[in-house]
Amino acid sequence: MKLLFRANCAYILGMQPSLTSPSAMERLRGVGLRPTRQRLALARLLFDGGARHVTAEQLHGEAVGAAIPVSLATVYNTLHQFTNAGLLREVVVEPGRSYFDTNIEDHHHFFWEPSGVLQDIPGAGVVVSGLPQPPDGAEIRRVEVIVRVRRDA
Ligand SMILES: [Zn+2]
Repeated sequence: MKLLFRANCAYILGMQPSLTSPSAMERLRGVGLRPTRQRLALARLLFDGGARHVTAEQLHGEAVGAAIPVSLATVYNTLHQFTNAGLLREVVVEPGRSYFDTNIEDHHHFFWEPSGVLQDIPGAGVVVSGLPQPPDGAEIRRVEVIVRVRRDA
């Protein structure tokens, strides 16, 4: 697969909180999820700070820090419910290592090694050419690129 980068794309867009973003309650109702107390509390942690990438463990740590009584298993389940409902996008960087992205626009990522930080690349910032024909009876839904980077020496 050949990747072509646009020379002048701004990499650090899309991480500002939006002043017009819907409330946690509106988000849950909008996708038909019952706004239980735990879902609301986790949705506020996730969405009130603007676009971000979090692991289940990070979000659980934030919940504990905010005195929200929730188990890590519930955080996992809730993140997957939110993802299935289209509120989040899961970014699997390695087997067993997922980030949950509050930015659900089509975009790509830099993955910083070894810190594990994900950084958005705007969708138009990567052009993928030479994709294979999808298998019979299948269509390509989207292409996500993870560019692994590390500080140069
Ligand atoms: Zn992202």
